[in-house]
Amino acid sequence: MVSVDDVDDPRIEEPTDAIIRVTASGLCGSDLHLVDHGATMAVKPGDVLGHEPMGVVEEVGSDVTRLKKGDTVVVPFNISCGSCFMCAHELYSQCETTQNLGGRKGASLFGYTHLYGGVDGGQAEFLRVPQAHFGPIKVDLDEVPELGALLLSDVLPTAWQAVDYAPFDHGDTVAIYGLGPIGQMCVSIAKHRGAGRVIGIDRFADRLSMAEKRGAEVVDYSSVDDIADCVREMTGGRGADAVIDAVGMDADGSFADRLFQTLKIQPDRFAALHAALASCRRGGNVSVTGVYSMWMLNFPIGDLFDKQIGLRWGQANVKRWTGGLYELLKDGDPLDAAGLVTNVEPLEKAPEMYDRFKKKEDGVIKVVFRP
Ligand code: NAD
Ligand code: ZN
Ligand code: ZN
Repeated sequence: MVSVDDVDDPRIEEPTDAIIRVTASGLCGSDLHLVDHGATMAVKPGDVLGHEPMGVVEEVGSDVTRLKKGDTVVVPFNISCGSCFMCAHELYSQCETTQNLGGRKGASLFGYTHLYGGVDGGQAEFLRVPQAHFGPIKVDLDEVPELGALLLSDVLPTAWQAVDYAPFDHGDTVAIYGLGPIGQMCVSIAKHRGAGRVIGIDRFADRLSMAEKRGAEVVDYSSVDDIADCVREMTGGRGADAVIDAVGMDADGSFADRLFQTLKIQPDRFAALHAALASCRRGGNVSVTGVYSMWMLNFPIGDLFDKQIGLRWGQANVKRWTGGLYELLKDGDPLDAAGLVTNVEPLEKAPEMYDRFKKKEDGVIKVVFRP
């Protein structure tokens, strides 16, 4: 259950910490997994959620020399040191300084359960930022739009990596499952990076229409018998050259699955992943950015082998991509990142907005809180 409560103000605990006063903080599809799977994902009562914050530096530890009080910063959702073996390879979501090998997990994340470090998150008035000598991105609000910059914390680098991990040639067709904030940004990035056609798949009219405006041909998967067949038909029987799963484990499947979900019977959590894999042409590439945290017993390895599908996945290595994305924001925001935000709401409305975002209420696509 999500509630808004008073907690103790965070303090500097390590010389590499900073404290920021949060000015804006995103709500993400990843937060919904915590609401749905809190017990299995080690969420504890009193945990502070949120991993997409920006704000103003209030105080820095003695080792944080690149920030000073008053700087405006966006905080990447993964906490990385910048200097270990993994960070040297720009695999920031696997940082060896903050990784959680006890639970066999990668780098610590803000507001993302005790599996990922149990670090308090940014849907709050103040945030303690560990590894602040490396993580926070300084932004100049005279040169970039504020709400576009906020998305450097997660949505922009995640979508950029999702597209990067399903390589395609200029003019190729990219199919994108899920048109939440991540899928929307994938549409814009795939077009920006030279896709000839982008096929956007979801079942909510407002999400389909936003993707259409971003340049996608759209399909309501609930209106067709088999969405993978439909993608194949749209691509001359071959399948899409690149496919992105921007749905994850809270996928909605068939009508029967939706009924099962309502009746609290385990649905097919892998509906989108199966469809994504089946939509890809022989020799094409699939990128999974939707989060999965469980075992999959019917992984179609035979099909993937036979079709020679390339497959990449994982949490975004945020700082690998934010330099170039900042330049795009500065350069007139051609991805229209700022235009993704549909709702800016006071933090007190968090319980209501979690609910409206989870229900995919009309027009509620990307929510940002103001503490
Ligand atoms: P969201 O919940 O708003 O979007 C998911 C969309 O998928 C919804 O619009 C939903 O209608 C659609 N959908 C559900 N079942 C579908 C199906 N079978 N076929 C097609 N579409 C379907 O969430 P979001 O904020 O856009 O995040 C999307 C996913 O990306 C989530 O799983 C989130 O956890 C994940 N994510 C991953 C990273 C990363 O670093 N890899 C970072 C951020 C978010
Ligand atoms: Zn997020
Ligand atoms: Zn590191």
